[in-house]
Amino acid sequence: MSLSNGRPYVAIPGPSVMPDRVLAAMQRPAPNIYTGAIVDLTDGLLADLKQVARCSGHATIYITNGHGAWEAAIANMFSRGDTALVCSTGHFAIGWADAAARMGVEAEILDFGRRAPVDPQRLEERLRQDSDHTIKAVLLTHVDTATTVLNDIAAVRRAIDAAGHPALLAVDAIASLVCEPFDFDAWGVDVLVAASQKGLMTPPGLGFIWVSDTALERSQASDLATPYWDWKPRIAKAIFSHNFAGTAPTHHLYALREALDMIEEEGLEHVWTRHDALARAVWAAFGRWADGGDIELNVPDPQARSHAVTAARFGGGAAERLRSWVETEAGVTLGIGLGMALPSEPTYGDFLRVAHMGHVNAHMTLGVLAAMEAGLQALDVPHGDGALDAAAAAIAEAARESAARP
Ligand SMILES: *Cc1c(COP(=O)(O)O)cnc(C)c1O
Repeated sequence: MSLSNGRPYVAIPGPSVMPDRVLAAMQRPAPNIYTGAIVDLTDGLLADLKQVARCSGHATIYITNGHGAWEAAIANMFSRGDTALVCSTGHFAIGWADAAARMGVEAEILDFGRRAPVDPQRLEERLRQDSDHTIKAVLLTHVDTATTVLNDIAAVRRAIDAAGHPALLAVDAIASLVCEPFDFDAWGVDVLVAASQKGLMTPPGLGFIWVSDTALERSQASDLATPYWDWKPRIAKAIFSHNFAGTAPTHHLYALREALDMIEEEGLEHVWTRHDALARAVWAAFGRWADGGDIELNVPDPQARSHAVTAARFGGGAAERLRSWVETEAGVTLGIGLGMALPSEPTYGDFLRVAHMGHVNAHMTLGVLAAMEAGLQALDVPHGDGALDAAAAAIAEAARESAARP
């Protein structure tokens, strides 16, 4: 007998849980796609997307997923043979670099490993060596969803400026936007990439790119932009259909409208605080589990940890056994380990990820942790006691802090 009947919870880092309000918003006929309400809807979405990224530049919506948004950013930033400097803190930076390389860009990887953030000093040194400015852009993830390393984007901008280098700063915040503070203008970002299905709580299918005036200006010279991916007509909007290079993704737009309304109702800063509280509960539980077993969080430094998803290691293949147990016995699907070990390596089954991203509240995250505790007990995986008490205490503390704020 399994105890998994009931509403399942897919606690993987995207697609995140879609609110019923978002799903319901899609249950309607298609609008006229040329004039009328669709025009206002799109304008409002673009304005609000700029707001959630704190961007005074330009926002664009592509019918695509994160991989497509990566490709759009590359197509507009580079010409064939240009160099991209990719600061890697995990699987997703490598993926972006790989896409650039396959499009004819020299993708040089500056590797910071899988457990620590980008070291701005090392980046600055590399940029100083590039005296003839062959590097056209620095690419990195805000949060690498595989390692769950969080990078300090403002520090990366300071490193580029300190080196006196003109490279654009391009950031993938697909896993972090709305879940963590992001400030496009204050951090000096030129190109920001995100997608609908993570912090934005909307079904997969939309990719977003925010563009600074500098990046728009430089893109005039890029020779990689093909008609669909070219951001220039989308930004210029000579006619409405240029927003989407064709038919608008009508129902995704309704869903996104509802999601952005929900974010505004809660307050963007409160959404960040909620993610912070849930992350602290997860980290607290792991702190106790780790005390009595071969269990550890992937990112040792709390300052460099994502607040939307947590990667961890359970030695001896226990991660894979636990993932399977909580899915079949408790109705919770956890994320697989991604890019941490090759399938041929003995440690392949040692990694998993817990998402606490988007439309998630305290009881959902506490429930996931309790299901994991049950799994550790059922599977006789050695672990420390008191994880659930510690998680509950973290939530109680966050609630007290929240009540004390004006
Ligand atoms: C999810 C994710 C991607 C890939 O997005 P897809 O929609 O699966 O193509 C890329 N980068 C990061 C940081 C992500 O979290």
